[in-house]
Amino acid sequence: MLNIGQLYMVYHPVKRALLAELCLRTAAAFNAGAMLRSRLTPILSAVKRRCLSTAPPASAHAHQRVDRWLSDFSASLSAGSAQESFVPEHSFWRDMVAFTWSIRTFEGAAHIGQALAATSPAAQPHGWCVDGTPTEDATDGSLECWLRFRTATGRGKALLKLDKEGKASSLFTSLSDLDARPFATGGRRSLGHPCESIDEIATPRPGRRYWHERRATALPAALGGEAGEPYVLVVGGGQGGLSLGARLQLLGVPYVVIEADARVGDSWRKRYPGLMLHDPVWYDHLPYMPFPASWPVFTPRDKLADWLQHYATAMDLNVATSTRVTRAVPPADGGGGDGRWEVELQPPGSTSSGGSVTLRPAHVVLATGMSGVPRVPAPPAGEGEGATQDPFAGEVMHSSAYPGAGGGRFAGRRAVVVGSNTSAHDICQDLWEQGAHSVTM
Ligand SMILES: Cc1cc2nc3c(=O)[nH]c(=O)nc-3n(C[C@H](O)[C@H](O)[C@H](O)COP(=O)(O)OP(=O)(O)OC[C@H]3O[C@@H](n4cnc5c(N)ncnc54)[C@H](O)[C@@H]3O)c2cc1C
Repeated sequence: MLNIGQLYMVYHPVKRALLAELCLRTAAAFNAGAMLRSRLTPILSAVKRRCLSTAPPASAHAHQRVDRWLSDFSASLSAGSAQESFVPEHSFWRDMVAFTWSIRTFEGAAHIGQALAATSPAAQPHGWCVDGTPTEDATDGSLECWLRFRTATGRGKALLKLDKEGKASSLFTSLSDLDARPFATGGRRSLGHPCESIDEIATPRPGRRYWHERRATALPAALGGEAGEPYVLVVGGGQGGLSLGARLQLLGVPYVVIEADARVGDSWRKRYPGLMLHDPVWYDHLPYMPFPASWPVFTPRDKLADWLQHYATAMDLNVATSTRVTRAVPPADGGGGDGRWEVELQPPGSTSSGGSVTLRPAHVVLATGMSGVPRVPAPPAGEGEGATQDPFAGEVMHSSAYPGAGGGRFAGRRAVVVGSNTSAHDICQDLWEQGAHSVTM
């Protein structure tokens, strides 16, 4: 299962730099607003540059560098010596499904060469070309550019980074479309008309259903009504579950997304008021529906929640809200007996003692997030083995229950935040700005 959270943490340099800088600010540093500003200034300047400027036109030389690399790479791929196109030690190839049918990362030219030699005969990569404009970094002579290519099964997109010597320091490849089962976009999109095809419009027939009638029955059908059991059951309607739902919808694969909350986006609405995405908007688009050009750089909590809800509606996704998955038994463990899973759901109005529903999907995807389940270690007890201090008399809460420090709730109090990831930094900053006596991370 692709963990979106982990992916962006590893691959997003601004975020990594931000975290690295903020991690330096432990107890003492939190009393230093000036230090905070000085450390964040270079990172925020980069965001500012991106917001205000348009990319300079690439030089003819940049295009030549990419063309030369592509020609060498294509030849070396055929010859089984692709390692020659990569920086010997510090190079990476990450593949999402295009070559490996999995998500894999290879490090160092030797490993990359072996992996490409092992996967290329089946993948048959070909037709490499530049997609868009290469961008050059004058400070170190590196170059970055998007590529398009084809494989035996579909179309792919790649991101290439070259060092000043013309070797690849990183290559990211991904499969974006399947030839045998293209997404229903562009010329393949739905007509939206009660008729299924243009020909049918010319020969109307009674009993056709309008859009709203079809949408009204889509979810009950996806849950096992007229269409039978769902082929794919996705647990969780956050950004991961919704993105996958959109892909399956446009592939025509029967699926349903199960979301425990009453509304899509509630997992964001329920968190602390200061929550916002830390990645700038240009890293956060969902498939098929990019954010509008006027969207704020850092998406605030409620705006993201509303967007996710809007996305589910606009993409016509089959999302069963207020429904919790309580049990999922894989086929090998005696699930459906027919090679299918056995998944128990609690739909609205049901309880643990009655009203649950069992579905038998062929595939189950857990898109329940990496940080959805609060874990609160008990403070040391006041007596007995392991007791080191008096029982803790203060408030203890998980970040998911942090109400925000507005209204002076924590003014003058001493706070300890356990952990040093995104929420921890937000909460430390909020406590400090709202007048806590001291904040220790
Ligand atoms: C302060 C902060 C800033 C962040 N900034 C960014 C950013 O800039 N960019 C970015 O990409 N990410 C960011 N993240 C991380 C982001 O929250 C996760 O990457 C993202 O939410 C993961 O999406 P997901 O769909 O995997 O899981 P989630 O968004 O956690 O969704 C999981 C869903 O599953 C549902 N669910 C759970 N259990 C069940 C069940 N048993 N049955 C039914 N439904 C269930 C939940 O209700 C929830 O809606 C940030 C996180 C924090 C805390």
